[in-house]
Amino acid sequence: MSKHQSCLVLNAGSSSLKFSVFRQQAAAGNLNAILTGQISGIGGAARFEAKDADRRQLADHSWDDSEPMPREKLLRFALHWIHEHLVDDEIVAAGHRVVHGGKEISAPLRIDAAAIDALEALVPLAPLHQPHNVAAIRMLAEIYPELSQVACFDTAFHATQPWQARTFALPKELSDEGVCKYGFHGLSYEYVTHSLLAARPELANGRIAICHLGNGSSLCAVQAGESVDTSMSFSALDGVPMGTRCGALDPGVLLYLMREKQMGLEEIEDLLYRRSGLLGVSGISNDMKVLQETDDPDARKAVELFCHRVAREVAAMAAAMEGIDALVFTAGIGENSPAIREMISRRLGWLGVQVDAARNAGRQFEISAADSRIPVFVVPTNEELMIAKHTLAVLNPGVGHA
Ligand code: ADP
Repeated sequence: MSKHQSCLVLNAGSSSLKFSVFRQQAAAGNLNAILTGQISGIGGAARFEAKDADRRQLADHSWDDSEPMPREKLLRFALHWIHEHLVDDEIVAAGHRVVHGGKEISAPLRIDAAAIDALEALVPLAPLHQPHNVAAIRMLAEIYPELSQVACFDTAFHATQPWQARTFALPKELSDEGVCKYGFHGLSYEYVTHSLLAARPELANGRIAICHLGNGSSLCAVQAGESVDTSMSFSALDGVPMGTRCGALDPGVLLYLMREKQMGLEEIEDLLYRRSGLLGVSGISNDMKVLQETDDPDARKAVELFCHRVAREVAAMAAAMEGIDALVFTAGIGENSPAIREMISRRLGWLGVQVDAARNAGRQFEISAADSRIPVFVVPTNEELMIAKHTLAVLNPGVGHA
C-alpha cells in the first residue's frame, strides 16, 4: 500500500518547539492534523509530548535538568519518534513558522542556502525569536537534506498595509533602513480571514477588526480581505498588554528608566517582555484564566486594563478602515473567555456592537445580538494549518488545499 503524503509543521521558540503533522487526503485535497506535540523546557528539564488527532496522549517523555539536552538532540528525538510512529505516512515537506520576513519577503519562501542567509540577516529585527526559527530550519536541512522546507512568516500578511500605517514619525533614514511597523500574528489573521469569508462571503469587501487575544495579543484591520493596519509594530511589544509584555508604552518611560534607574538593555528587555502585561499589573499570573478565577483586586485590575486597551484598539482599527462591518475574536482568550468578549464588547456599544449573552456563553460562531449593528464572531484560529497549506502550495503550485 502506498503511504499518505504528509507535511510536518514546526514552530520553534526559545524554550519550546511545537510540531504537527498534516496528512493530505488526496481525493478531496483536504489536510487533516494527525499528530500534534511539543518539546517544552528546552535548556532545562525538557519534555516531549505528542497527541493524536483526537487529543489522546501518545507520548510523554521527560529529561531531568542535571545536564540539559542540546536543542539538536531534542529535535532529532522528536523527528525519530514521528518517523517511527507514522508508519503509514511519508513526510514530503516541512513548513516553519518564522517570525520575521522583513520588508522584502511578503510570501512563503522555499528554503535553500540563499533563503537561510536572508532569514539570518533579519535576526536584528527579531533577536529573541528569529534565531530559533532559523536554527530549526538549519538543523532539519542537516538531518534530512532531501526534505523540501518552506518558511511562512508572521509579518507577511501585513505587507499590504499602506505607508501611513507602516511608518513611524521618525527621521526618514531610520524608516528607510527598516525601523518601521511590520506587524505579527499574520498567519493567524490570514487563516481567520479565510475562514470567516468562507462562512460569510457577503463580508468579502467588508471592514473587519480581528482581535487575536492569546499569550501574545494583537489586533488587525482587514479590509477587502487584506491587512490595512495592526496594533503590533516594529516588535511584538507594541499594541495591547499581553501575558508578560507591556503593549504600547510611552518611549519617555524608557528614557526615564535609563536615566534615573541606570537600567541597561537586558534589564529593560526583561522588564518589557517578561515582567509586564497581565503578570506585571496583577503581580499574580500571566494567565488570563487564572486571573479570572481569582478574586484579588489586582487581578481584576489587570483584566480591566486588558479589556480597556483592546476596546481602544478596536476603535483604532475602525478608524484605520473608516468604519467597521464585523468584529472577530480569536486565539486562547478570544476563543475561550465569554467574560472577556463581553467586557470588550460592552465598551464598544457606541460603535454598534452588542453581544447576545446566551450565544456568547455557548461559544457560537456568531455571538452578536439580533439588533447589533455590527456582527460579532468567534473564529478559532489555526496557524499550523495555514502553514501546511502554504507549504504544500509553494511546493505544488496550482494544487489547491481545502
Ligand atoms: P499563545 O499565544 O501561546 O498561542 P494561546 O492563544 O493558547 O496562547 O492563549 C493562551 C491564553 O488563553 C492564556 O492567557 C490562557 O489563560 C487563555 N485562556 C485559555 N482558555 C481560557 C479560558 N477558558 N478562559 C480564559 N482564558 C483562557
